[in-house]
Amino acid sequence: MTGPTKGFVMTESRVELTRKPVSPPPPTNRPLTAPAQFHVLAKPTGPICNLDCEYCFFLSKEALYPGDRFRMADELLDTYIRQVLESQEGPEVTIAWQGGEPTLMGVGFLRRAMDLVERYRRPGQVVQHTIQTNGTLLTDEWCELFAENGFLVGVSIDGPAEMHDAYRVDKKGNPTFAKVLRGYELLRRHNVDTNILCTVNAANQDHPLEVYRYLRDDLGAEFIQLIPIVERDNESGFQQGDQVTHRSVDPHAWGRFLITVFDEWVAADIGKVYVQTFDASLASWLGLPPSLCIFAETCGNAVALEHNGDLYSCDHFVEPAYLLGNIMTTHMVELVDSPQQRAFGDAKRDSLPRYCLDCEVRFACNGECPKNRFTLTPDGDPGLNYLCAGYKAFFTHADGLMRLMADRLRSGGFADEVMDILRAAGRNALCPCGSGRKAKHCHQRHLATSPMGAGG
Ligand code: SF4
Ligand code: SF4
Repeated sequence: MTGPTKGFVMTESRVELTRKPVSPPPPTNRPLTAPAQFHVLAKPTGPICNLDCEYCFFLSKEALYPGDRFRMADELLDTYIRQVLESQEGPEVTIAWQGGEPTLMGVGFLRRAMDLVERYRRPGQVVQHTIQTNGTLLTDEWCELFAENGFLVGVSIDGPAEMHDAYRVDKKGNPTFAKVLRGYELLRRHNVDTNILCTVNAANQDHPLEVYRYLRDDLGAEFIQLIPIVERDNESGFQQGDQVTHRSVDPHAWGRFLITVFDEWVAADIGKVYVQTFDASLASWLGLPPSLCIFAETCGNAVALEHNGDLYSCDHFVEPAYLLGNIMTTHMVELVDSPQQRAFGDAKRDSLPRYCLDCEVRFACNGECPKNRFTLTPDGDPGLNYLCAGYKAFFTHADGLMRLMADRLRSGGFADEVMDILRAAGRNALCPCGSGRKAKHCHQRHLATSPMGAGG
C-alpha cells in the first residue's frame, strides 16, 4: 500500500479500511459570513440516559433513530474534535458534552477526546471543557479526568431531596437524590469546578429561597443555572395555546422565583455566587451581547451534534425539519453558515409579535427562546412566550439595581458595590433600587435576612 485511495484513510500508524464516509477536509476558504465563534453541544449517547426524569424532553428523541445503539463512534469523535477546533477563530474554544447522560460512554471515550484535543489544538488555542451530568455514575476515575483537564461539570439538582425527587427518578421510578449527592460530593473532594443546573418546575416553584439557600449554603454552589421547565402538552393536540403539563412552571411563579432569588442575591452574593440568569441580564443593561442565547436577539450560534454526526439548529430543535446535515460529509462551519441555519437564527427576531416589539424590557428579553413561544398576546396574536408574564415582572423589578450595577461597571467599579449602596441607605430614605418605597420596607429587608446581615 503506497498511500490513501478512495475508501481508505491513512492514520498515523497504519492504513485501514474505514467503510465509513471520509471526513471532509477543512474548508480551504472559510465562509466569510460564518460566525467567528459558535457553540456546539455534543450528545455522544444521543438522548439515552440511565435515569427517567419525568420532564426530560430528550428521552422522546429516541424515536428519531429507531434501532440505533446511540454511541458516538471513534471516527466521528476524531472528526468532531478536529472540526470544532478548526471552526473557532478566537483563541478560546469550549467543548461541551451533554446527553442523555454522556458518562454512559465511559471514561475511555473522554480520555480519547482529550488526546484528540491535544492533537488538533492550534498553538495558543485554549480549550474549556464542560460536561452536563446527572452525577449518578461518577467515580474517582471520572473526577480525576475532570480535575486533570480543568472541566466545569454541571450537575442537575433541583433543590433539597423532596423537591429534587419530585421528578428526577430512575427507570423504576425510584428517587435519585442520594446518588446525585454522592456524585456531587465526589466532584468536590477532587476539587472539580461544578455548576448546579436547577430546573424550576411545579414542585419547587413556590420555594425560591429554600432552593437557593440550599444550593448556596448546603451545597456550597458558586455557579447556578436556573432553567424553567416548560413542557408542551402535545397529547392535547393543540398547536397554539398555553396547554402545558402539570410539571411545568407557572409563568407568574417563574417571575416570583427569579425576583425572590434576585433580591437575596443582591443583598450579599454579587461577585460570590454566579447566577447565570442575572449575569446574562446584566450584560443587556450594559448593552453587551448576552451570554445566554435565550436573551439574544437572534439564534443560530448554538448547534447540537447527535451521536451519529447529524448537526441540528439547536439542542431544543433536534427534529427532522431542523437537521442541517452531517459533519462526516459537510464541515460543521459550512453547516452553521448555511442559509437554513441563518434563517433559523433570524426567525427569532423576525417573528416577534407586536406585543414584544412594544415591550419596555425587550432589550433584555427578546422574546426568550422560540421553543416557548406558543401562547397568544392580549390582542390575540400568536407567538408570545409562555413565560412572558414572569420575565416582564422580573426584568421590570430588577431594572433599578441592574442600572446601578451597570453604572458602577461603566465607571470602572464593580457590580458588588451595589451591596454597599443598599446597606448605606438610610432606613427611612428611598430604596436605591428605585421602587419608590422606603429602604427599610424594600431591599434592606433582605439585608436583614442575608448571611452578611444588615451591618455588612
Ligand atoms: S432556540 Fe432557544 S435554546 Fe436554541 S439557540 Fe435559540 S434561544 Fe437558544
Ligand atoms: S417580556 Fe414578554 S412582551 Fe416583553 S419581550 Fe419578553 S416575551 Fe415579549
